Amino acid sequence: MLEHDVIIVGGGLAGCRAAVEIARLDPSLNVAVVAKTHPIRSHSVAAQGGMAASLKNVDTQDSWEAHAFDTVKGSDYLADQNAVEILTREAPDVVIDLEHMGVLFSRLEDGRIAQRAFGGHSHNRTCYAADKTGHAILHELVNNLRRYGVKLYQEWYVMRLILEEGQAKGVVMFRIEDGHIEVVRAKAVMFATGGYGRVYNTTSNDYASAGDGLAMTAMAGLPLEDMEFVQFHPTGLYPVGVLISEAVRGEGAYLINSEGERFMERYAPSRMELAPRDITSRAIAYEIRAGRGIKPDGSAGGVYVYLDLRHMGKEKIMSRVPFCWEEAHRLVGVDAVTEPMPVRPTIHYCMGGIPVNTDCQVRSGADSIVEGFFSAGETSCVSVHGANRLGSNSLLECVVYGKRAGATIAQYVKNRKLPNIDSERYIKEAKQQIQSLLDQPGPYRINQVRQAFQDCMTEYCGVFRTEELMQQGLQQLQEFQNQYSQIYLDDKGKDWNTELVEALELRSLMVVGQMIMTSANRRQESRGAHFREDFPQRDDNNFLKHTFAYYSPAGIDIQYASVSITMFQPQERKY
Ligand SMILES: Cc1cc2nc3c(=O)[nH]c(=O)nc-3n(C[C@H](O)[C@H](O)[C@H](O)COP(=O)(O)OP(=O)(O)OC[C@H]3O[C@@H](n4cnc5c(N)ncnc54)[C@H](O)[C@@H]3O)c2cc1C
Repeated sequence: MLEHDVIIVGGGLAGCRAAVEIARLDPSLNVAVVAKTHPIRSHSVAAQGGMAASLKNVDTQDSWEAHAFDTVKGSDYLADQNAVEILTREAPDVVIDLEHMGVLFSRLEDGRIAQRAFGGHSHNRTCYAADKTGHAILHELVNNLRRYGVKLYQEWYVMRLILEEGQAKGVVMFRIEDGHIEVVRAKAVMFATGGYGRVYNTTSNDYASAGDGLAMTAMAGLPLEDMEFVQFHPTGLYPVGVLISEAVRGEGAYLINSEGERFMERYAPSRMELAPRDITSRAIAYEIRAGRGIKPDGSAGGVYVYLDLRHMGKEKIMSRVPFCWEEAHRLVGVDAVTEPMPVRPTIHYCMGGIPVNTDCQVRSGADSIVEGFFSAGETSCVSVHGANRLGSNSLLECVVYGKRAGATIAQYVKNRKLPNIDSERYIKEAKQQIQSLLDQPGPYRINQVRQAFQDCMTEYCGVFRTEELMQQGLQQLQEFQNQYSQIYLDDKGKDWNTELVEALELRSLMVVGQMIMTSANRRQESRGAHFREDFPQRDDNNFLKHTFAYYSPAGIDIQYASVSITMFQPQERKY
């Protein structure tokens, strides 16, 4: 059995920031980070547009209060305002701290950090490194891990959270290289396992975004919060789905329909292309439904709209958003200097997640916490995004709350002993689980079941939802569940058995999918990214509350918890 004071699952921004904090605060602690990818291949590396903070370098009228208001309004008033206050107050300091660690932010003429406009933000406050912000930050954080002597387990797959008597005691994991299984015990376990974009068939997320941490938490009997809130990013490049950053609109690009109209005029006249993502995604979906989408020959009736950068000019495009230009050029052959890009909404971000308090301790219910278990980043839900996240608030959340998780953990593990674990039992069960996947006979291939599952989630629980659709979807999910036990794996070996990893990831996707659809079905109102055609209004009387969904193979139990409203009373949300 392996032993560490702290084991952090996830080598993205949240996990790395927490590890650095712990090592800084108490260099005597033995901290490990485990990731199924190499840490610098975590999805954080793909973040493009930037990170919000009211530094006031460009816009002297900005303030943390304005940032907090924009965030709460963007969240459709579901965000916990105590958590938003921490996020926005601490933002300027964490940016400066990253700069001191070596992150190269883009600059103004006078040398201060540059800041750009972003959707739903009322001031220019997004700090960036061209359109490769995640890359710039994650590389420095990983360098810092090495500097502080944090132990890295890279390309290890964590398959189980060990939770006994309401206490997290460690994890079970295997080395993908040779299938070697280990139990790790620790005084504190942290999950920073990122999002679940792969639950849907078109996503901006990487292949590793399979919701493993969410599924392991749910399968251990702990709740997941607000899973019905799934963010569609308005501008996924058609047909591949990869992201064209909001920074492109922040720098001035237009959205255009088949009639050549800037159609956002109809949906958000004051913010136009810089309305929040839920509103902009729905606007695009409405345009396409109304027959004003574009076909490849340029005529009406197609399934995408145009993102037009041409008026920005070559110099601005190449200096501010070079990566987006390159993506469109490389992936679909469009030169954005002279042609518009084809785009449509793509699954992008998970607003819900593992419920945590503002010290990143995992909650087991509305008023209780789990001993020894912490979480931060996209996989967690401290609820700073509520029903809809604003662009450039997620990198910020990873850093603010990753740092807080680190501080809480460094304090928590003081004077605690390593827990006792029957490691042989866990190894035996892990081996059995893997062996039965390898042995099971059956007619289904992973790819086939995953595709059908992803298509079902997209069709029955997408941008527009109704009770009728979701009931059908839930029935189908049940069938895929049955097919899962009849999946046949070709690779029976131990070394680099990526098929086995995919099988385990598919299990995660299915648990998460079921949690999303059940939570969505129960929320009979429209709020933020959750849009019910059968309940098109927001209903504060009945649904100004967080969903807590508890998984069991027999079914999902839904409970609710209150929202923290400390600064801004809910109002109608208009842009
Ligand atoms: C294309 C794109 C662009 C974005 N741009 C921006 C932006 O400009 N600004 C912004 O604020 N936000 C942006 N976001 C969102 C933001 O990047 C993410 O929410 C954030 O980076 C998530 O970081 P994280 O640390 O929580 O998780 P991730 O970076 O996703 O890391 C997850 C880690 O967990 C590990 N892991 C997962 N499961 C297991 C397992 N079973 N065993 C072992 N390890 C596991 C993975 O290997 C990885 O190391 C963007 C997202 C995308 C997809």
